[in-house]
Amino acid sequence: MDKLIDGNLKYLEADDTYASARADTSANGQHPYAVIVTCSDSRVPPEHIFGAGLGELFVVRTAGNVIGDFERGTVEYAVGHLNVPLVVVMGHTHCGAVGAALDAHGHHAEGSLGKLVSEISGAIGTERNEPAAVKLNVRNSIARLRESAELQTVKIAGAVYDIETGKVE
Ligand SMILES: [Zn+2]
Repeated sequence: MDKLIDGNLKYLEADDTYASARADTSANGQHPYAVIVTCSDSRVPPEHIFGAGLGELFVVRTAGNVIGDFERGTVEYAVGHLNVPLVVVMGHTHCGAVGAALDAHGHHAEGSLGKLVSEISGAIGTERNEPAAVKLNVRNSIARLRESAELQTVKIAGAVYDIETGKVE
């Protein structure tokens, strides 16, 4: 908690870029240029990765970048109400959620986390290669987004972030 409080104080004292961006976006609303759907993993912060500031990226994060009703609804809002023209679904290397699905072969995890891992297991099928599984999981999340009537024409791109090199492919 001390780290969080201290971090917010530093943020308030940071350069004018943040203050002017806050003033602009609070007065004029947000106009993000992309939706990023990615993993909650602490090594995958979209604003850092894409050099984006306040009001620029509309971000949805879940473990393993899985898409359910609430996540799909969040993207519908961004596309339908904020007119964001691009959705990027970005998986990443060494994803714990994909790893759990690879390990869970034949096992059944419990509770809500079990449902999440099961979604990824269904996406990767019999694939046992980790990078290939990450890509299949991204494709599945794109397919889940396309289940929405509101998300038929928006451009949706798949991507994979390498947590070691920092490169997005
Ligand atoms: Zn992950």
